[in-house]
Amino acid sequence: MAGSSKEHTGSNGEHHNHEFNGTFSPVPIKKSKLATSRDLTIGTPLQTRAASPYTLKPPIDSDGLSWPSMGARARIDQTPEEAAARELRIANAVKTILQELGEDTDREGLLETPERYARAMLFFTKGYEDNIRDVIKKAVFEEDHDEMVIVRDIEVYSLCEHHLVPFFGKAHIAYIPNKRVLGLSKLARLAEMYSRRFQVQERLTKQIAMALLEILRPRGVAVVIEATHMCMVSRGVQKTGSSTTTSCMLGCFRDQQKTREEFLTLLGRK
Ligand SMILES: [Zn+2]
Repeated sequence: MAGSSKEHTGSNGEHHNHEFNGTFSPVPIKKSKLATSRDLTIGTPLQTRAASPYTLKPPIDSDGLSWPSMGARARIDQTPEEAAARELRIANAVKTILQELGEDTDREGLLETPERYARAMLFFTKGYEDNIRDVIKKAVFEEDHDEMVIVRDIEVYSLCEHHLVPFFGKAHIAYIPNKRVLGLSKLARLAEMYSRRFQVQERLTKQIAMALLEILRPRGVAVVIEATHMCMVSRGVQKTGSSTTTSCMLGCFRDQQKTREEFLTLLGRK
């Protein structure tokens, strides 16, 4: 993944290791609140947008989880015995699906498929369990750099939450620092953390952007994702090869056309 990424930064300064102190989100979480005062102070346009049940909350919970699923905490805290029991329940459900589809679950090729599929689904949704403090550990640096940073072509694999089939493609993440930068490989880790969940592409794009905004408080963040959805291309809804592009522009990327254009030019889109 990291190997295929192309990176661009405006200049190359000296990095000073600045250990992340773990104080992202001192504000208590209030589900009913649309926009926090922090949104207003950093000038994001989020409070003017339609509310999403997923991004109403601040990106990072007090325990370091970021928009976790309802059962994420139970998965994190489970004992090995509980984990095995969970895997078995999923496998039994998969066996039922196969039987209802008319399959013989005792034939050789399918014998261990339910267990394999259970493990695969747990892997594909492991992003709910990620703790953002572990993800970006020791990779926030004080840096007097104020030019655009872009990491292009980050591979993302996710699952469409409407059909539970994959969508996959490339994410491009950019930001303009405000005295703090993030280790470049961590941008890919953020994309991984939010794509290993049940997603819609629009939310995935927004979550990456909002998390980066929260972590670095930069002058602006831009995220573009281009992806192919199996639920579209394999069911004949659209021709094979069609792809979907989503973007989320925050801060100066939203306010300043020049900044947005520089970003799109660097992406090769203009
Ligand atoms: Zn779908």
